[in-house]
Amino acid sequence: MPKKSHCANIRRIAVIGSGISGLTSAILLQDNGHQVVVFEKSRGPGGRLASKRVPKSSADIGAQYFTARNPEFLPFLTCYAGPDSFRVWEGKIGFRDESGEWSEFPREARYVGAPRMTAISRQLSAHVEMVAETKIATFQKRNGLWDLTDTNGQSHTGFDQIILTAPPAQTQTLLEDSGLEDLADSLNDAVSRVLPCWAVAAHFHESPFHAFPWRAYSGARVEHPVLYWVGNNSSKPERNDQGEWWVLHANAEWTQANVDQDPEKVAQLMCQAFTDMVGFDGEPTAVVPHRWLYARSEGGETPGHLWYPEQGIGIAGDWLAGGRVEGAFDSAWALISAIEH
Ligand SMILES: Cc1cc2nc3c(=O)[nH]c(=O)nc-3n(C[C@H](O)[C@H](O)[C@H](O)COP(=O)(O)OP(=O)(O)OC[C@H]3O[C@@H](n4cnc5c(N)ncnc54)[C@H](O)[C@@H]3O)c2cc1C
Repeated sequence: MPKKSHCANIRRIAVIGSGISGLTSAILLQDNGHQVVVFEKSRGPGGRLASKRVPKSSADIGAQYFTARNPEFLPFLTCYAGPDSFRVWEGKIGFRDESGEWSEFPREARYVGAPRMTAISRQLSAHVEMVAETKIATFQKRNGLWDLTDTNGQSHTGFDQIILTAPPAQTQTLLEDSGLEDLADSLNDAVSRVLPCWAVAAHFHESPFHAFPWRAYSGARVEHPVLYWVGNNSSKPERNDQGEWWVLHANAEWTQANVDQDPEKVAQLMCQAFTDMVGFDGEPTAVVPHRWLYARSEGGETPGHLWYPEQGIGIAGDWLAGGRVEGAFDSAWALISAIEH
């Protein structure tokens, strides 16, 4: 764990965002004795580690699975989310190129929340003080301490430090609106690299796929004019679905071109693309669409985290550490190590 601070250094710290990077930051800081409050604009924690209610079940509509290459990650999850909140997903993951050729992704342990992705963030958030449904709009320094104001005009006062963990565009807006233009401008490149993603959970009464190679894979990254990822959510541990829920992600170009399209229409087009691709002559029995405006970052410099000690502002997030769930953890870990060194 990042180094423990001395008691004399105990600080009051605001964390903005309760995704994996915000919750990791908050827990590590709290473990070091600091007083931490997490502010989250949504109803529940998790951010893009997301599950959506679907008829008679739930589906992981954001992150599909995560890796644990950093040796600190699993011990952290086991300790704070609990060993029952996640499982290995044994399914084979493939890559299907434009011509329909398949190759298997290298085998490594892939993890999912159990019985859904948000099981992890629910457990993590139980360790910290979280103020949900509170979108922070600005922060200002008064008498040496940060005062936060939310979008309802309510103040949250007296913080020594602030940790920002929202995606780059949202972090940039916060910095700009708080009069920190230089910090905001430094995120221009990161903001330009964030890609949107339309996601659809689609239910089939029976598995629509009997033929090899589709039956051999639980999920696939596909090169396709519409789709980017298709995954059998019901094949993950502890889902116990009747029939199969599949999660489809559109590629960034198609999402961009259809970003303001009616969600029902998007679901129809994506399911049609899916059934055409796998050669299934039928329709899903239920569909649930979801639009991610800030899904993932592509390319560019990834410094790991940003820490401005004079202002007492730290920035963490997946986009600073190569994207993905594990990147979000890595970024938070590195930031808190830098703050507490
Ligand atoms: C469709 C999709 C598929 C993905 N697939 C995978 C995958 O298979 N494997 C993988 O490892 N990763 C995947 N990812 C990426 C992974 O989900 C992210 O890397 C990770 O969850 C990001 O965590 P984070 O804490 O950095 O950010 P987030 O999870 O985005 O958390 C930021 C939080 O800040 C909150 N917030 C924003 N602004 C404010 C504000 N002003 N005030 C208060 N709260 C605010 C947000 O509501 C959010 O909860 C996928 C993502 C998407 C969208």
